[in-house]
Formats: sequence, C-alpha cells, structure tokens
Amino acid sequence: IPRERNRNFSIIAHVDHGKSTLCDRLLQTCGVLPPNAPDQFLDGLEVERARGITVKAQTCSLLVTSETDGQNYLLNLIDTPGHVDFSYEVSRSLQACQGAVLLCDAVQGIQAQTVSTFHQAFEADLEVLCAISKVDLEHAQKEEVKRQLSVLTGVATEQVVEVSGKTGTGVQDLLQAIIQRVPPPPGSSTLPFKALLFDAKYDSRRGMVLYVAVQDGELKKGSKIFCSYSRRTHLATDIGFLYPDLSSTETIQSGQIGFVVVGAKDIRSFRVGETVFAEGGEKTGEPFPGFRPAQPMVYAGIFPEAVGDGEKLETAMQRLLLTDASVEAKRDISPVLGAGFRCGFLGLLHLDVFRQRLTSEYGVDVLATNPTVPYRLTLANGKEVVVEHAGDFPSPPQMPPKEVQEPLVTATIVCPRELTSNVQQLCVERRGEELSVEPLDNSGERVMMTWRLPLAEVITDFFDRLQALSHGFASFDYQPAGYQKVDLVKVLVRLNGDDVDALSFFALRDRASEVSRRYLERLQNLIPAQLFDIAIQAVVGGKVVAKVRIKPLRRDVVAQKILSHGHSGDPSRKAKLLERQKEGKRRLREISKVQVPPEAFVAMVKM
Ligand code: GDP
Ligand code: MG
Repeated sequence: IPRERNRNFSIIAHVDHGKSTLCDRLLQTCGVLPPNAPDQFLDGLEVERARGITVKAQTCSLLVTSETDGQNYLLNLIDTPGHVDFSYEVSRSLQACQGAVLLCDAVQGIQAQTVSTFHQAFEADLEVLCAISKVDLEHAQKEEVKRQLSVLTGVATEQVVEVSGKTGTGVQDLLQAIIQRVPPPPGSSTLPFKALLFDAKYDSRRGMVLYVAVQDGELKKGSKIFCSYSRRTHLATDIGFLYPDLSSTETIQSGQIGFVVVGAKDIRSFRVGETVFAEGGEKTGEPFPGFRPAQPMVYAGIFPEAVGDGEKLETAMQRLLLTDASVEAKRDISPVLGAGFRCGFLGLLHLDVFRQRLTSEYGVDVLATNPTVPYRLTLANGKEVVVEHAGDFPSPPQMPPKEVQEPLVTATIVCPRELTSNVQQLCVERRGEELSVEPLDNSGERVMMTWRLPLAEVITDFFDRLQALSHGFASFDYQPAGYQKVDLVKVLVRLNGDDVDALSFFALRDRASEVSRRYLERLQNLIPAQLFDIAIQAVVGGKVVAKVRIKPLRRDVVAQKILSHGHSGDPSRKAKLLERQKEGKRRLREISKVQVPPEAFVAMVKM
C-alpha cells in the first residue's frame, strides 16, 4: 500500500469512555481479531486488565476498503494509554499520527481528560475527528454531548460520529471518516531512510523491538540503523508490520508504521521520540525537532516488604526496568528497610502500576516511601542541582540553598456546578491559582476549571480529597507547567541527639513547625517506650522547631508490653502477626541506641 493510502491515527479519550472496547471492535471489523477473541485484546498486561486502564501503548494495522474509491487503505491505529499520568506516553504516540479520534462517552459527556487529550492532539497539529461512544445506552445524550464536543473542538455537530464498541454501530462510518479526513503521512520514498521511534519494548524471545513511523525512504531486513539519542548503530535483524502481532516483511517504507528488531538489550539506550536513520544517514539527515527524553516527576523509594526479599526485588527490578524506559532507578540503602531502590516515575499512577507489577508479575511485595517531586536548587556556591530526596537537601554545616524551585502543573477539573466552591477551597488550600472557570453545557450544570497547582500538593491526597468531596463526580487531569520559587526547608529528625537522615522530610518554611509537631506526635506513638528516656526533635536549619519525649519504661513491664502488643482473637491473624514480628525482629535496627520497630519506620516513611 503506497504512502498516499496510509492513515496513522490514535484514539484519545477520558478513562472508561470506551476506547479499548472500540479498538477491539475495529480490529474485529477488519478481520484482524476472530469474533470470539477475549475482550480488550490490546490491553495486554495483567495490571491493565485488572485496572481497566491501558499502561503501554500498542499498535495495530487495519486494512480497510474505501466506500468512495473502492481502494484498500492501511489504517494504522496507535492505542494510547488512558490515564492522567501517562500524558507523556500519549503525546509521544501522537507524534507518529496525522489524525486523532476524540472519543467521548455519550452518557457522561466531556470529562477532564477529554479536554486535555484534545489539547495535546491540537498542539500536535493533528486532524481531530469527534465521536461519541456507547450510543447503544438508553441514557445516551447524543445531541447534548455532540454540542459539548463541538464547542470544545470547533468540529460541527453533524460531523460527530456516533459509535458503539459494544454493538458495532457506526464503526464503518468511523473507518470511512478516517480515510476521508485524516491526511496521509508526509514523507518521500526517494530520500534516505528516516523514521520516528514512538515506542520500544523488550521481548524475551525476540529481543528489543522498536516501533517506528517511517517518514522517508525504506529499510531492508539485515541492514543497519543509527539511533540519534544513543548515537549507536544496530543491526536490524527483523522488520515488519503489526497485525497486531509482529509479522515479518523484507522492507518497511515511507509512510508505514512498523517494527524493527535490534540486537540490543538495554531499553534505556532508546528514547521515544528520537530519530532512526539508516547507518550513515545521520551525517546528512536532520533528526526530528523537539525531541527531549521524558523527565520523571514523582520519586519514591522502593523496598522489599520482607527483608529476605532483597535479591528477589533486585531481579524483578532489572526485568521490569527493561520494559519501561521512563522509570529511573538507582540503588539505595535504608537503615531500617534494607537494600532497595530510589526511583523516578512520570506520575503517581505510574508509580502505583510499577509497584503492582512487581507484585503481580514477579511476586515481590514492596513498600513505596512517601512520594516526592524533583526540586531545582541553586546552591550557595551558585551550582544548580536537582534534589528529590530530603536526605540530599543541604543542612548545617552546609549553607542553605540560595533558591529552591518546585514543579507546577496545569490541572483541568470538570465537576457539577454546585461543587465549584468546594473544589476552589481545596485548590486554594493546596496553594493553587485559578486560571479559568467555564460552563460546559447549555444548562450550566457542569463546569470546567483550570488551575495552576504545585505538583507536590497534587501527589499527596489531592485526588482522593477531590473524589471524596465530589462523591466521584469530578474528573481531573494535569500537565506539567514549569517551575516556581518555593520557600522549602528540610526537617531533620533527631533521635537522642543524633540526626536520622532516613526520617528527614521536606516542608514549606511557614508550615514546618506545625507539620513537624504532627509528625513527632505520630512517631511518639509508634516508638515503644524503652529502658531510657528518648528525646525526639525536629530541626530546621539547626533550630529545634518541635520536640517530644518518650518516658522510660520500668524493666518489669517491658516483657508484658511486648507480649500484649498486637493481640487479637482471630488465630490466623495472630499467626500472621507472629510471623510479621519474627520478620520485624530481624529487621529491627538500633538507631542511636533507640530500638525503632520497622512498623514505626514504615509508618513514617509512607505517612
Ligand atoms: P477505556 O478505559 O476507554 O479503554 O474504556 P473501556 O473500553 O475499558 O470501557 C469502559 C467500560 O465501558 C467497560 O465496562 C465497557 O464494557 C463499557 N463500554 C465500552 N464501550 C461500550 C459501548 O459501546 N456500549 C456499552 N453499553 N458499554 C460500553
Ligand atoms: Mg482502555
């Protein structure tokens, strides 16, 4: 199929608006999937099926006959991940497309991600087609939702396609609309080979599989490629198309979406958005503009739940890191949690999904510490560094930093009108700045707000609070929006005069003593009394801002106290507790001669 009859497109939607169901239906309509295929074929990972979200983008080509000219067209569908955290993955897959289908649930109407994914597609200069999904449902508000989409995108209501992934209604109309309205990919078959790398995965059987959108020229199986990011040459041992399984061919050409298998092992040496040339082509060709590797925005420590699982975690991490180049990881040793990793993620959900995959795919129970964001510090000597762990923040005798900057996000919130003031209150509490409030529908029943918020405030319990105050009727999405100055300090926890870096944390200067007081009170309740006096202090810049004391215990009550701890009637629960205590004993460490039980430590680091 020549370039002029290729169409590269994505489907973008709010989570649960029916994207996976529609994708499956498209595949089935085009004969790619047998009618009895399992639901949501493209959602391959266990965690994706379990959560009903798409984590990793997958791609598939469909052969469709045009009703207008009777010719065959190759429609390349790029399934984008469907959650707030994965906006980076969404935008990277969009670079390989010329069109996007903006899908919106005909019952729910526009939600936060409908708005934010539309903006991404718009910024990527894509032809946006609008469709409403689930039109088979009784309560579908077709006209109203079409109108909402029209206001958002400028597409006429008559042009909005009605589809149902469940019944198959409108699926042919949608395929025809894609042929009609999405332009063919740009490029030239006479220029040297040049392709965009838009995804990569490590397959234990085949090796590294690169997903590419070919702009110019052609690539033959057995030839060599050069990647602009790693600046390395690789042999293309296999190439081909995605139907949706990898199917080998001899060449891939201008306008096509395909895969290239290379003999590399480390996914980290490839970055989505980089340019793939034929060997030598980099000397004359220009890489695609605007490439930057993804930056982690949320950091957390990952430690084994059971101390003996250190090696298991190590192996699991190594394997899992091969599947996700956007996770950053370095080894870390915690005085109580043992050997683990400090990791950077694209967002909170990304962290959560990663943790869940460690458990579901590799059988390691892990503990993730309180997430933090990357702060940009200008040190006293003028040097600029990024610090995402309070332990790395300068404290006396080091000079305090000259300036600290924190990451910001632009948040889109869609909610019923009567909740506006509650949402505003929450956002103000979280140091937000209101950018706009607009009605979404004719009746003004629902509104769309945009806020600028510090990311650090969003990654705590913001989403939970929003869900609670709206009873689940608010939707939320965010995009990175630069940095701003922040008056941040490091709170050091001092146990009997010794600094315990592992317990230190970040706080805003004007909230530091209040936050510290609450933190110490919790610690006071978690550390059992011992045979001597324990003084716990919170220290900011060398000054004590809060302190508590744990009075010593008389010798004869010690044994009693330990025995009664965690007593319960349920025998299986008791057995579990005993097991845990055994583990705990092994893990119990003395910090400044104070026996800090693992539970206390765990509770503090994942407060
Ligand atoms: P995604 O999160 O956008 O991928 O959404 P899914 O495809 O996973 O669908 C979310 C839910 O909506 C699932 O429970 C689907 O069964 C249901 N659903 C999806 N499409 C339709 C449809 O056309 N009609 C009806 N009635 N339900 C649908
Ligand atoms: Mg999905």
